Amino acid sequence: MAETFRGRRVFNGQYWSGDPYVKLLLDAMKHSGCAVNRERHFSCEDCNGNVSGGFDASVSQIVLCQNNICNQAHMNRVVTHELIHAFDHCRAHVDWFTNVRHLACSEVRAANLSGDCSLLNEIFRLHFGLKRHHQTCVRDRAIRSILAVRNISKEVAQKAVDEVFESCFNDHEPFGRIPHNKTYARYAHRDFQNRDRYYSNI
Ligand SMILES: [Zn+2]
Repeated sequence: MAETFRGRRVFNGQYWSGDPYVKLLLDAMKHSGCAVNRERHFSCEDCNGNVSGGFDASVSQIVLCQNNICNQAHMNRVVTHELIHAFDHCRAHVDWFTNVRHLACSEVRAANLSGDCSLLNEIFRLHFGLKRHHQTCVRDRAIRSILAVRNISKEVAQKAVDEVFESCFNDHEPFGRIPHNKTYARYAHRDFQNRDRYYSNI
């Protein structure tokens, strides 16, 4: 049996320096005036059910479910997903609690850009070969994420996702592209740094 992964290992530094998705998002948060502080903005907790993480907009804190995150790769995916919510929270006036379409938009973006639906993940899940599969995966995951945090019917969640899907699926900020794997994420990070350099010369 695998040793239980303890979420506190997120603070060991090795993780922070390694993942290009996380690096880009941390840079983007800083660039948008919402610099992330490890001690202040992350909380490792035991969570109910099989929830692996969450973004608490009321206190701008990312919750990492140390009892449900079982390895470093999973941790990186969860941190990336939640940082996309934090980025949306930073750049826009997101009405998380009363406007389900706002939540739906951020969930579409998180599922699309975090690697949650990347090809390798999908191969491991043995869902393979469907055209437009990425879009289907993003839509399904966004609906599931909404239902995990809001007490609404599946139909209402589906409707909200479908209403915002096209514009939010095509909003790739701050990546500038869909980072299907770490190589793409590394390119996106490089481009972001160059973009930053360009703006700082204005
Ligand atoms: Zn989410």
